[in-house]
Parts: sequence; C-alpha cells; structure tokens
Amino acid sequence: MTLSTYFMEATYLIASILFVFALKGMSHPETARRGMFLAEGGMFAAIVGTLVGTHIVTWGWIIAGLAIGSIIGAWMAIWVPMTAMPQRTALSHAFGALAAALVGVGEFTVHASEMPTVTRGALGFEIMLGALTTTGSLIAAGKLQGLIHGKPIQFKGQNAVNLAIFLAMAVCFVVFWTHPEATVFFYTMLGIAFLFGVMLVIPIGSADMPVVMSLLNSYAGLAAAATGFVLSNNVLIIAGTLDGFSGFILSVLMCKAMNRSITNVLFGGFGAVVAESSADVGGVMREINLEDAAMQLAFANRVIFVPGYGLATAQAQHAVRELAEMLEDRGVTVKYAIHPVAGRMPGHMNVLLAEANVPYSSLYEMDQINPEFPSTDVAVVIGANDVVNPDARDNPKSLIAGMPILEVDRAKSVIVLKRGQGRGFSGLENPLFFKPCTAMLYGDAKSSLTHLAQAVQHV
Ligand code: NAP
Repeated sequence: MTLSTYFMEATYLIASILFVFALKGMSHPETARRGMFLAEGGMFAAIVGTLVGTHIVTWGWIIAGLAIGSIIGAWMAIWVPMTAMPQRTALSHAFGALAAALVGVGEFTVHASEMPTVTRGALGFEIMLGALTTTGSLIAAGKLQGLIHGKPIQFKGQNAVNLAIFLAMAVCFVVFWTHPEATVFFYTMLGIAFLFGVMLVIPIGSADMPVVMSLLNSYAGLAAAATGFVLSNNVLIIAGTLDGFSGFILSVLMCKAMNRSITNVLFGGFGAVVAESSADVGGVMREINLEDAAMQLAFANRVIFVPGYGLATAQAQHAVRELAEMLEDRGVTVKYAIHPVAGRMPGHMNVLLAEANVPYSSLYEMDQINPEFPSTDVAVVIGANDVVNPDARDNPKSLIAGMPILEVDRAKSVIVLKRGQGRGFSGLENPLFFKPCTAMLYGDAKSSLTHLAQAVQHV
C-alpha cells in the first residue's frame, strides 16, 4: 500500500466514525445540528481521502462536478423555503441515486467482462436501485411541489402490472449477471428500473409521500452500498448501509405513528377514496372571538400549544413563540405538544419551532404530555386535526382507529385555530370540534396568533 492509500483508508475510517456519531446526534432535536455538522465533516473527509488516494484520470471533470454540485447544493440550502423541505429532500435522493446509477453504467462499460460474478451482482442491484430511486424521487418531488397531481393515480390491475414490470427487470438482471456480454439486457434492465420507479410512486397520494421518501432514501442508501461493493470502496459500503437501514427504520416508525402498515402505504392508495367512518359526528361547532380567547389564555395557569400541518402552511412558528413568551411573562406555564406525524414530514414541527427559537425544553413528546392535559387550562390546537382526533382512540370503526393521538379533549378547555371547516389529511370529520369544551377561532393561524398576542397585551 502506498502512503496515499494509507491516508485514504484512514480518512475513510474517520468518516465512518463521524457518520455513526452523526446519526446518533440526529436522533434528538437538541443534538441534531451537531449531528449534521459531524455528517458534513465525515463527507468532507471521505471526499478528500478519495481525491488523495485514488488515481485521478482528469481533474477537469472532478472540478466541474464539484462546482455544479456546490452551486445546486447552495441554491437548495439558501433559496428553497422550509415548507418545501420534503420536495427538496426528494430531489437530493434523486441526485444521489442518479449518481449511483451513472457510476454503475460507467463500471459496466469499462469493466463488466472482467468483473467477478459477485461484483457483477452488486452492480445489477446498484443499477436497479439507483434508477428506480431516481425516477421515484422525481415523481415524489413533483407531487409534493404540485407539478404532478397529488392524488393517487390508479388503474385496474395496477399491482399486477407492477409485478410484471418487476419480474421483467429481475429476468434482465439474471441474464446480465450470468452473461455479462449481453449488453442489451443490461440497458433494458436500466430502462425498466427507471419505469418501475415511476410506476411505484404514482399510485401513492402526496400526503403519503414522506413515508415513500424515507423508503426511497433507504433504496438510495442501498444503491450507494452496492456501488461501494463494485468499487471496493469501504466508506461507501458503510455510509450506504447506514443510510439504507436508517431510512427503513424511519419509514417503519412513521407508519407506526400513523397506525398504517408499509404495504398499506405502498399498495393501499390511501387518499384515493375518502371513507366516512365517523358518520355519527354532528352538532354545532362553538365559535369564540379573539377577545374571549385572549382573556382565557391570559388568565390560565397552564397552556399547551398543539401545532399541526396548518402551522406549517401558515408559517406561524414565530407568531406562536411570541404569544407563548407573552403568556410566560404573565406567569402562565406554556408547553408545546409534539405528535410524531404532525405536519407532513418527520420532525416537521420540531424543525419549524427550532427555526423560531422555541427552546427544546418546552417541547414534549406525546407520551410525556398526554398525562398533563387533564390539568391543563387551555389546549390551543394550531392547524392540527388528525393528530388530535379522539375518534382514533374512541371509535374502532374509524379509518384512523388505533393511531396514537394527543388527548387535547381531556384538557379543561380547547381552542382550535383553523381557517374553516376543512378536514385534515385523512379527510375525516373530527368530533373534537363539536365537544362542549372546544371553541373554534377561525382564521389563518399566523394572523390569529398575531392578533391573539396583541389582544393578550391589552388584557
Ligand atoms: P391535518 O390533519 O392535515 O390537519 C391540518 C389542518 O390545518 C386542517 O384541518 C386545516 O383546516 C388546517 N389548516 C390548513 N392551513 C391552515 C392555516 N393556514 N391556518 C390555520 N389552519 C390551517 O394535520 P395534522 O393534525 O398535523 O396531521 C398530520 C396528518 O398528516 C396525519 O394524518 C398524518 O398521519 C399525516 N402524515 C404525516 C406525515 C409526517 O411525517 N408528519 C407523513 C405522512 C402523513 P382548515 O382547512 O379548516 O384551515
């Protein structure tokens, strides 16, 4: 081994350790930022190690790639707004997966015939996972951005068609694996994999995209790990495997928090037809005016804010922090209740509230905060709906039966901030809004919170 190879292996070891600590850091909001820095450090070490330890054919391409990648990365980091984070992440997966697929095509063109069988198998996986993740992630980004219709696109026999496509891809893979000279099967496999990515994602509604994206993230990671096997590159194998399995674990956790199974998300077409399973919900929704709501908050001892998707769309995170601070100045104890799937991506509420400098110590997870609702004077629901729907707990026939909820209906009183009678992601009516303890404050969440803060000042 030459000195530069030693250096490369040492940087790979450092990068791998940094990636592991980065993941550990990202498992908690308080250490997530540090985790990201560690991951960046790891990636930097891996790039430097590769550039020093590998035989570089032409620097021109590398510099061009670095420049283009850095410009796109900086654009995505600086100009893409926080609310567009899910589609931004989908684009990142598409780029990562495309890179893996292109490296695979390059390796096939140059080395396929002399490759050991095992390595050629890894190359096949790299191509299939890379290509299907590329198109799947692009469709996901398009749906989330509203460029493609967000509703599930379904037709009769769709699962059978998908199965046929998958089998065709698998046959091409086996032929290419056993006969490397059969170039046509290699490129057919590549083409089918691109098509399969599209077919996998179009039947899924945009609201389920976050789960799909973390699955695609997992595929992109596994594609990178397969690339690592093809190139005999240890850091790619380690980072890809970490990415692959953490993405899969995240998908499972999200499904658990929504009380859904992964197969239901992938093949169920949730959102295609909205089943009404809370037909007996009825009564009147009691409205409250701003002054009365402000009075209730100002004279409360304990208030819990419950943010949801509406807080994100209204960009009301700063407004809620300002109101909370105002209440705290008056001696009110204020907490925030965070549901694991509130919003449209994991950690959505944590990210938004962190952006508004809400202290982490004020954020409480579902299990911690639920026992506190009965002793809470006012629970303020801000653009949340499904995650506070008591039907999930009380009505076994409900579409969301069994989904763990924030039990705001157990608070002494509830104020719900929403624009009108709009339903949540599940499309179900919410009996919470009809309970005697609940009052509705209609309007855009940001404007309601801003006006509430002004009104509290005058109490
Ligand atoms: P939700 O059930 O989607 O309800 C959001 C509510 O916000 C709506 O009822 C809407 O009512 C209101 N709203 C929208 N814009 C608003 C605005 N500008 N100001 C005030 N209110 C506004 O939200 P959620 O309770 O956060 O639940 C999240 C749902 O998404 C769950 O069903 C979860 O399973 C699903 N999901 C989450 C994830 C994730 O990772 N977080 C992933 C996939 C699916 P109006 O129209 O009347 O205002």
